[in-house]
Amino acid sequence: MARILLLLAIGFFIWLLFRGFFKAQVSDAPPTEPTEAENMVACARCGVNMPRSEAKQEGGKFTCLDPSTCKHAP
Ligand SMILES: [Zn+2]
Repeated sequence: MARILLLLAIGFFIWLLFRGFFKAQVSDAPPTEPTEAENMVACARCGVNMPRSEAKQEGGKFTCLDPSTCKHAP
């Protein structure tokens, strides 16, 4: 009888360990952190900062997509 209780105790202990393990796994996962946050780039012509997706690359330099909004800084 004591053996069965011991086995139950061990099983319970293992269950607790696994529960804690999976809980830790979940909490370790980054909570939808914006790791893919867009890099901000500065326009080489007007100096305006914008997300990378809104800039176009011209000869290694980033410039505004829309030339009408891209004006030389005074
Ligand atoms: Zn610009």
